[in-house]
Amino acid sequence: MANVILKPGREKSLLRRHPWIFSGAIHSVDENTASGSTVDLLASDRTFLARAAFSPHSQIRARAWTFEDEVVDKEFFRNRIRGAIDFRLSVFNSSFWVLDNHNSIIDSTSSDSMRLVYAESDGIPGLMVDRYGDVLVMQCLTAGAEYWKETIADILTAETGLVTIYERSDADVRELEGLPPKTGFLRKSILPDASLASQITKFAITEHELKYNVNLAQGHKTGFYLDQRTNRLRVRELTNDKDVLDCFCYTGGFTVNALAGGAKFVLSVDSSADALELCKENIALNNLPADRQTSLAGDVFQLLRKFRDENRSFDMIILDPPKFAPTAAHADKAARAYKDINLLAFKLLRPNGILVTFSCSGGIDAVLFRKIVAGAALDAGVDAQIIEHLSQGADHPVSLHFPEGAYLKGLVCLRK
Ligand code: SAH
Repeated sequence: MANVILKPGREKSLLRRHPWIFSGAIHSVDENTASGSTVDLLASDRTFLARAAFSPHSQIRARAWTFEDEVVDKEFFRNRIRGAIDFRLSVFNSSFWVLDNHNSIIDSTSSDSMRLVYAESDGIPGLMVDRYGDVLVMQCLTAGAEYWKETIADILTAETGLVTIYERSDADVRELEGLPPKTGFLRKSILPDASLASQITKFAITEHELKYNVNLAQGHKTGFYLDQRTNRLRVRELTNDKDVLDCFCYTGGFTVNALAGGAKFVLSVDSSADALELCKENIALNNLPADRQTSLAGDVFQLLRKFRDENRSFDMIILDPPKFAPTAAHADKAARAYKDINLLAFKLLRPNGILVTFSCSGGIDAVLFRKIVAGAALDAGVDAQIIEHLSQGADHPVSLHFPEGAYLKGLVCLRK
């Protein structure tokens, strides 16, 4: 096995079990070390620190698979994947994995879709696996995950009993690893071939008893924002009889829940006309009252200003924008954008109105996000309370040694 030797004093993060080693920390790498292959990370005095995947093109030059002196092979990945699945099985108290008849593929939250493997947080850097009904969607974001892809696909099938795996390795971050985008079936069998493409682009899932059509081939992330699952349910519980404005609605996750929760009216805004069309479809799929919802294609920043100028007001506003700050380097610009929309939203809220506001930016932490929202309320001239903190669901756990895994932050604020 190849060795990667660190510069003196650069072993500290590994000793704290953070799995990343940046290129600047490295003294030397054995010649001809292949992309994605397993290397030993050694301190400058040659002490063993971790066994890792080598990423020659990335600034994150190696990611630790393990801090123990253990073999990294198929059994290693089977144990990690089994661990990830077992914890979800117990947390979600589910018969989720039982495949003998279709009705049983539902957990105790009446959902058939959730994240099964969340990369570093589950001890498998670079690997995401999401389950949508009886299809697995897999995303390999790093050279190491790419290297073990076929092995991992075999393990996933063996451990879940699911034989259809669709690959969505098309996230931008692959470029940083020197990997081209890749999408398509990695394993396929249960779906009849003739209609395979259409099944994958309009795949019906169930979440907390509501249905959604998900485009597994082209939808955002692996198709759907599974990380908002519990928050969608929470919104459903808060919307009765309210006039709701759902900003950045995408395919209508929050809109559908607001209608299901008894909203008086929902105005759904997104810049993507295609997403709004799917939002309409998802409303119809659940037999929810279409006459209580309107879609508006446009830029949220501009529309919120227009609504302000028209003196419009709402009982609830949801802000779930795209990632404004992927890293801390974008934090300043992103902070201004978050403040802008939150300030306008506070102005549009009626007294006792509720703002449900999110940030999925890794570059903005929870404390900064709260400061931004507080600044927005101040400048809008309103008093507000945080009545709830929201985050990504338990199927997106955060390793205590890898705080970067926590990215989704939400605040439920009550405007006084
Ligand atoms: N709330 C959604 C996810 C939002 S993803 C859910 O729960 O499923 C972010 C969405 O914002 C995308 O659909 C994207 O099309 C939209 N978007 C990005 N920039 C926008 C802008 N300036 N104005 C309106 N929509 C925008």
